[in-house]
Amino acid sequence: MSTSVPQEILDALTRVDMPAVPALSGNPETVEVAGMRLPLYRCGMAVIGSGAAGLRAAVEAKRRGMDVLVCSMSLFGGTSACSGSDKQTLHTAGTARTGDDFRKLAQAIGGGGCMDLDTAYIEAVGSINALAGLQYLGLPLPQDRFGAVLRYQTDHDEVGRATSCGPRTSRLMVKVLCEEALRLGIPFLRKAEAVRIITRGEGDQRRAIGAVLIDQERRDEHWGLSVVLCDALVLASGGPGELYRDSVYPRHCYGSLGMAIEAGIEVTNLSESQFGIGTRRTEFPWNLSGTYVQVIPYIYSEDDEGNEYNFLADYYRTTRELCSNIFRKGYQWPFHATRMEDFGSSLVDLAIFRESQQGRTIKMDFLRNPLPGADGVPFSLENLDDDVRSYLENNDALQGTPLARLQRMNPLAIELYRMHGHDVATDPLPFNVSNQHMNGGIAVDQWNESSLPGCFAVGEVAGTHGVTRPGGSALNAGQVGGLRVASHCAARGCAVPEDLPHTLFDAAVQECIGIITQALEASETTPTTAVVRDEIQARMSDHAGFICHIADLPPALAAAQDLRQRVLAGEMRITRASQAVDVFRWRHLALTSEAVLANIAHYVREGGGSRGARAYLADDGEVVIHTRHGPLQDVCYRPEQPEHKEYKITLRWTGDDFIITHNPLRAIEPLQGIFFEKHWSDYLTDRVHAPGYQHQ
Ligand SMILES: Cc1cc2nc3c(=O)[nH]c(=O)nc-3n(C[C@H](O)[C@H](O)[C@H](O)COP(=O)(O)OP(=O)(O)OC[C@H]3O[C@@H](n4cnc5c(N)ncnc54)[C@H](O)[C@@H]3O)c2cc1C
Repeated sequence: MSTSVPQEILDALTRVDMPAVPALSGNPETVEVAGMRLPLYRCGMAVIGSGAAGLRAAVEAKRRGMDVLVCSMSLFGGTSACSGSDKQTLHTAGTARTGDDFRKLAQAIGGGGCMDLDTAYIEAVGSINALAGLQYLGLPLPQDRFGAVLRYQTDHDEVGRATSCGPRTSRLMVKVLCEEALRLGIPFLRKAEAVRIITRGEGDQRRAIGAVLIDQERRDEHWGLSVVLCDALVLASGGPGELYRDSVYPRHCYGSLGMAIEAGIEVTNLSESQFGIGTRRTEFPWNLSGTYVQVIPYIYSEDDEGNEYNFLADYYRTTRELCSNIFRKGYQWPFHATRMEDFGSSLVDLAIFRESQQGRTIKMDFLRNPLPGADGVPFSLENLDDDVRSYLENNDALQGTPLARLQRMNPLAIELYRMHGHDVATDPLPFNVSNQHMNGGIAVDQWNESSLPGCFAVGEVAGTHGVTRPGGSALNAGQVGGLRVASHCAARGCAVPEDLPHTLFDAAVQECIGIITQALEASETTPTTAVVRDEIQARMSDHAGFICHIADLPPALAAAQDLRQRVLAGEMRITRASQAVDVFRWRHLALTSEAVLANIAHYVREGGGSRGARAYLADDGEVVIHTRHGPLQDVCYRPEQPEHKEYKITLRWTGDDFIITHNPLRAIEPLQGIFFEKHWSDYLTDRVHAPGYQHQ
């Protein structure tokens, strides 16, 4: 930043207070199930989750006249409200200077493969509306004097389409959307977690009609069990952040992927996720992307005795190469297997992984420039690759220390850690490589409807991304998804269900009661939810992390299957009634963990190789990673086959196993065939919403 910014402005962008959300007024309708009188809520659209995606869906639906209820496990507890990075990124069509080309933007969004082509184009075009709506609600996106939004380059984006309000962009999005929801009078269940989807009908007639909730604000009465009935059930519950031990998600992100799997909803691309460097959940989970690394801090490791290791010097050949790749982690933040080759930026992730395996702690020091690399040449701002040098030069960031450069480029990044009890101006930051995002999720059509009619998915729980995604496109996808669901439900009608007989939900509620009772009555030798959690998280981090040994997969999958069988059979214990909701969380995550492993194992069995999420290592792996000492014989990976980019692996739970299929990517008809007069009536009559509609 070329002008120093007053503290109160920095504070407003980092200490973001959220609006007070009132409890529902009045007493709800009640219904008797198994001798228990439970609250029953009816609405046109029930939105499960109050992150940026869910709130966008709720606000857009309410504006279109729908009766909306938001049910959230934790109002401001999801990833949008609690996560970020140096400049948390929103990726939309470029609006500055020369504008953008939506087809090229769609190519960037889906460039890694395995993404439906219509979805990529929808997210590209929809990004304009997504952004404008947020600006209208007051999201403080920086602009130049002409009103053009300031932009920069992000991961998997060669053009520079990213923008940001600072470290807390998504929290600010949640704030402005929640304020709008309150202005519109949208009611909230503030601590209500969906634990089971309620359906009616069989076969092709089966559709979602609501959910069983556990409402922590009423947990003294029958564990908080409640029922919501709706015409459209919108899952907006974020990613399964608790799946991995090494995770940079905020705590308590369980999501509803497992609940959807249990309901037999198709899920897709579960093998695709993102891993990258960040501070640990044991301290403060936060991404170390962008300026944190672009200022080129000294990265080292420390053993238990306090000995320090300049370990990156064992990987890169020169100081210049080492420093330039630390910088590149700024906009090549997520791990990508191919970037380990040729001394690329993901060699940093591999080096950190190997160093951690030796029990050492990795640290980032902003007070020191990197120590000399293998060639012994001291660090110098004159001795950097051209792209690195020019970036620092363009941003007036040629100060003597990483801290001074960070102070210059992004003081908010320093402020943020200070706010969370860590002063990077005095103490190095411990960090590691963690799981950060689920690219796959619930398979949805172009209006975000899942394979279960009436059940939609938006935001991270929707499996709309492919193998890679530009940084900031997750937030964009959630906004566009919210808009699409609202416009689709408005077009097809979304009425409050007044007359559903309660035989339709009796069975679902009684099953939930049975599951809770069984867990409460389980013997003392039965594993607790904490034991189940530790087993799942350790297995996922150790065997399905970004460095994944192919030989480990079959036993890991078998163990995950075994655990899921035991958990679903009721072998999981809670000790207090207030823990009732944990039984569902870990039941669902046991299922999710098996689904992810089943997807990965299947992909690898089909000859699938290393790409965005993971490097798949094998003794006979064709690609050997080199460090400056030569080939790493234990890091031989199997490369990706180009044809594997052309389909998505989709899973459906049958009740005791997964059916796995390969789905070709949805294509788009030629865009040059779309004309105003020709297609206007299709819009006016809502034909564009008809199943399978294409512009003729
Ligand atoms: C450290 C970090 C940095 C990131 N940086 C970026 C970035 O720069 N750009 C970008 O685009 N993306 C980024 N992401 C990803 C992005 O933040 C998320 O994908 C996005 O915020 C998800 O939004 P969401 O609305 O889908 O879910 P969330 O924001 O996670 O909201 C989910 C909501 O659902 C509730 N909920 C969960 N389960 C249930 C249930 N069963 N019943 C009821 N309620 C439930 C939660 O309490 C919460 O309110 C980052 C992620 C992390 C972890």
